[in-house]
Amino acid sequence: MQKRLQPKTFTVQQAFDITPNMRRVILTGEDIRLLPADSAGQYVKLLFTSAGSTDLSTLSDGQKPVLRTFTISEFDAEQGTLSLDFVKHQYQGEHQHKDEITPEQGGYACHWAMHTQPGEQISLGGPNTIQGLAEDCDWVLIIGDMTALPSIQLKTDRLAANSQGYVVLALGSAQDLPALQLPEGVELITVIEGEHAGNALAEKVAALHWLEGKPAIWCACEFNNMRAIRQHISQQEQFDRKTCYISSYWKHGVTEDGHKVIKRDDQDSYHG
Ligand SMILES: Cc1cc2nc3c(=O)[nH]c(=O)nc-3n(C[C@H](O)[C@H](O)[C@H](O)COP(=O)(O)OP(=O)(O)OC[C@H]3O[C@@H](n4cnc5c(N)ncnc54)[C@H](O)[C@@H]3O)c2cc1C
Repeated sequence: MQKRLQPKTFTVQQAFDITPNMRRVILTGEDIRLLPADSAGQYVKLLFTSAGSTDLSTLSDGQKPVLRTFTISEFDAEQGTLSLDFVKHQYQGEHQHKDEITPEQGGYACHWAMHTQPGEQISLGGPNTIQGLAEDCDWVLIIGDMTALPSIQLKTDRLAANSQGYVVLALGSAQDLPALQLPEGVELITVIEGEHAGNALAEKVAALHWLEGKPAIWCACEFNNMRAIRQHISQQEQFDRKTCYISSYWKHGVTEDGHKVIKRDDQDSYHG
């Protein structure tokens, strides 16, 4: 197995809310030095047992861990820390204990982030690269829900000062909007959709006025929204698959394990 793919073990340094619906967990430990300098924005796989424990020694021989995918929102090689930001979905309050987790209901990552304490250990696979925003385009269209915020924040930080276009975000509440430093020519559009199933994000995208020239498109959000957005943007004259990244990060009603299968089938049928 390549060194990069072997799980690495980290220790929780801090866990706290950064906005009402987003919780940050800062990890530290010796294995930080195995990560590349450009780890921020890459994704990792968190490893759990099927009962929701991060103690993988309880896995029996041949039993695979449950995997959950998250973006490294901050990486500080000097301080020896990395941060992961978790959307607080399904969280029903302090009374909900992590022992209640089952593979059918899921919620491994979210519940872990809500209950973890400094000193606890967790194993991560990766990191692996997430496709970036295409270069040499005339304007940008960045779309996402809260699961994509860690990635989007890093992308908007790197936009050229003369960039034109839109950032369209679905948020759990107005207070979940991070401090984005957008160039003057990039308009921020937000929709507050909470946890309700619906296509509010896709509707915002469908209402956009398309600018002249070729757009660089980057979109990550819930599966049904992603499909509606993909259908809309692929009908636009300026659409070019080569400058477009569009991905689903989760799906209403199914855990990551179920979503993975649906996503693969969808991609196979889309790409033929
Ligand atoms: C490349 C990539 C990067 C990602 N980065 C991040 C990140 O940085 N931060 C982040 O929070 N998520 C991120 N996600 C999404 C995250 O992997 C999923 O939300 C995952 O399902 C969460 O795992 P869980 O164990 O908490 O819930 P699961 O066990 O997977 O699901 C349990 C239930 O919760 C629902 N659910 C899952 N996620 C959400 C949600 N966000 N809102 C409402 N309901 C939900 C499911 O539909 C299911 O019914 C990323 C996904 C990908 C593919």
